[in-house]
Amino acid sequence: MHEGAIVHSLLEIAKDIRIKEDLKEITEVKIIVGKFHQIVEEVMIANFDFMKTEYDGFDNAVLIMTEKNVSVICEDCQHEFTIDEPIFMCPECDSFNTELISGKELYIETIEGLRD
Ligand SMILES: [Zn+2]
Repeated sequence: MHEGAIVHSLLEIAKDIRIKEDLKEITEVKIIVGKFHQIVEEVMIANFDFMKTEYDGFDNAVLIMTEKNVSVICEDCQHEFTIDEPIFMCPECDSFNTELISGKELYIETIEGLRD
């Protein structure tokens, strides 16, 4: 997925919240990202810091990204495991009959701002 497009959506959402909540500035945008998306934190932050200059009230805003491991369950032996590579093979029984249980998350956890 393209980091720039995601950051743009985040900024748009945060901007709407700033206006709706009548905040003077946004200070922090916290997101949860599953490793399945292969989004690079440094690229996200660089994009955020660059693109936020187009928005009012984002001068001190920081992007905080928390990554979630990709967790998989084996349908054959019910073994749960996390993977770093996109290889969905059960380490216990070598089965490929596995299902993703987490790692596809991509959402805003919190947005913080100041009123005055
Ligand atoms: Zn298994």
